[in-house]
Amino acid sequence: MYKYEGICCCECGRELKDQETIYIGGDEYICEDCRNAYYDCCEDCGKLVPDGDIIAVDDNNRFVCEDCSNDYYACDHCGGLFSDCYLAVNTVPLTLCDYCYGYHYFTCADCGEVYYHEDGEYVDDCCYCRDCADNYRNCILPYSAKPSPMFLGEGVGYYGLELENRQRRR
Ligand SMILES: [Zn+2]
Ligand SMILES: [Zn+2]
Ligand SMILES: [Zn+2]
Ligand SMILES: [Zn+2]
Repeated sequence: MYKYEGICCCECGRELKDQETIYIGGDEYICEDCRNAYYDCCEDCGKLVPDGDIIAVDDNNRFVCEDCSNDYYACDHCGGLFSDCYLAVNTVPLTLCDYCYGYHYFTCADCGEVYYHEDGEYVDDCCYCRDCADNYRNCILPYSAKPSPMFLGEGVGYYGLELENRQRRR
């Protein structure tokens, strides 16, 4: 039964006493010092894995082994791995984490699809995809390559600015 004799730590080579032997799979054992120095526990399955094989998921809030990382979704923008609750969008064509969606994407106010920010156009304070924007823009403004700031300046926003200026002068 006492086959432990002669077992060495596969990291530092030190011969191990059975009470400090930590089994890491295969025929390999390590000592406690090496475990603390070079290994981490997968937070999902509890398996001990070398530091270099541990994968950060959920915005570096969780660390898991490679097997468990397969259960997470890859964000199409940053490539990070996330569980469901960190995702803003999780559809068949597009998966986005909260951060990437917030900074780089928007949901078209008309068709409800998610698009990259640069593909969106603001019409009357709503953001639309190019297809939908065409419909709205035609009703409100004639098409022009440059949006006209004067048009918006005559609305409520103009008075807001004026008030702020006065407060600053005081
Ligand atoms: Zn060791
Ligand atoms: Zn795991
Ligand atoms: Zn992302
Ligand atoms: Zn749209």
